This record gives sequence, C-alpha cells and structure tokens, in this order.
Amino acid sequence: MFCENCGKQVPQGSLFCDGCGAKMDVQQQNVQQPVYTAPQQYRPQPQYGAPVMTVGQYIIMFLLLAVPLLNIFLIFKWSFGRDVNPNKKNLARTILITGIVMGILSAVMGATLTNILNDILSQMQ
Ligand SMILES: [Zn+2]
Repeated sequence: MFCENCGKQVPQGSLFCDGCGAKMDVQQQNVQQPVYTAPQQYRPQPQYGAPVMTVGQYIIMFLLLAVPLLNIFLIFKWSFGRDVNPNKKNLARTILITGIVMGILSAVMGATLTNILNDILSQMQ
C-alpha cells in the first residue's frame, strides 16, 4: 500500500506513514486486508429422528416382555413394525437375536446333557 500524502510505500497494516507520518486510510487498509473468516464454531447438532427413550419407557418395555407369549409377539412387532422408536427397535432386535442364540445353545447343551445322562443310565443297568 502507498501513502496518500507522499506516495511512499508503507508496510501493509501500518497506521501511519513512516515517510511523512500521515495517518493511513484505515478504510483502504480494511479493503486490502484478507477477509477474516471466523473459525467454524461447534454448534450442537439439531435433534432429529426419534427422541431418546426414558427409563420409564424401558421399564414398561421390560414389564411387557415379562408376560409370556405377549413378549414374543411384542419382540416381533417392535423388531419389524413401522413407526417404532429406533431405540426400541434396536433393543427388540438385540433381544430377538440373543434369544435365538441362547435358544440354540440351550437346545444343543440340553441334547448333549441328555445324551450324557442316557449313557450313564445305560451303563448303570
Ligand atoms: Zn507519507
């Protein structure tokens, strides 16, 4: 940038000319300076989708799951139904998957145990 009074070149951002001492045009400086961009500030993401399930809702869910037969119906309804809170849906699917795994495991272990018991009983005879 140059002094408007004497025409001397002065460093960018100078408040006064170092040749004649005239006050530099601040407006002009501002135009020449790179535009200051504020750093992107952290803003909490707007809430979207399903609301978080409360403890009370989970308790009601587990109480309903304690009812025989109704629990099987509800697990399938919550796992694959429409308009189900994703939290509830994920929990229902987790219970369904672990239930199937536990069922298979207990069936295998039960069969193994039955075979062992049969062997022992047949040897005692
Ligand atoms: Zn000057």
